[in-house]
Amino acid sequence: DQDIKYLRDNLTVYPNFPKPGINFRDTFSLFRNQITYKKVIDLFSDHISKLEVDVIVGLESRGFILGGAICYNLGIPFVPIRKKGKLPGKVIEYKYELEYGQDVFEIQECSIKPNQKVVIVDDLIATGGSCMAAIELLKKVKAQIIECVILVELSDLNWKKNVSVPTTSFIKFD
Ligand code: IMP
Repeated sequence: DQDIKYLRDNLTVYPNFPKPGINFRDTFSLFRNQITYKKVIDLFSDHISKLEVDVIVGLESRGFILGGAICYNLGIPFVPIRKKGKLPGKVIEYKYELEYGQDVFEIQECSIKPNQKVVIVDDLIATGGSCMAAIELLKKVKAQIIECVILVELSDLNWKKNVSVPTTSFIKFD
């Protein structure tokens, strides 16, 4: 479709960042332009409005830029999953592998009620490690995970083997 092609064509790629051999798809290049940012938020909002969802969970940090605007649009609450040590109170943690490195994600235990229907949003899926970690955290707080909704999918990284919940992405690269 036209909007997807427009977004794909306007997404800047930085070869060899942050390490040699990695083509970094800079989703900030779509967020800093009012036309592409609106198209992105509309795509997510249209899709998520058709699901039955209580809460949107955004992954640090570009998932926050998406999640906040979508939640405002749809009138539903936003919950963050953050890197270790940034959330106060009782938190649950999960260690995971990145495309380049390792990290720990945390969620506040009080932020989700048992059986709430949640959608996970993020800007990009590569190995699927981040989404998988988010899924594990959300299982621990007994959320019902409806879907992962992601702006950009890197198809060659085989995230499909790792991510066990339905996943929708809008822009695909091999
Ligand atoms: P994964 O955990 O391997 O699926 O990697 C996805 C996470 O790493 C997301 O939170 C992305 O923001 C980030 N990431 C990995 N590769 C890229 C990229 O090429 N561009 C932007 N973000 C990336």
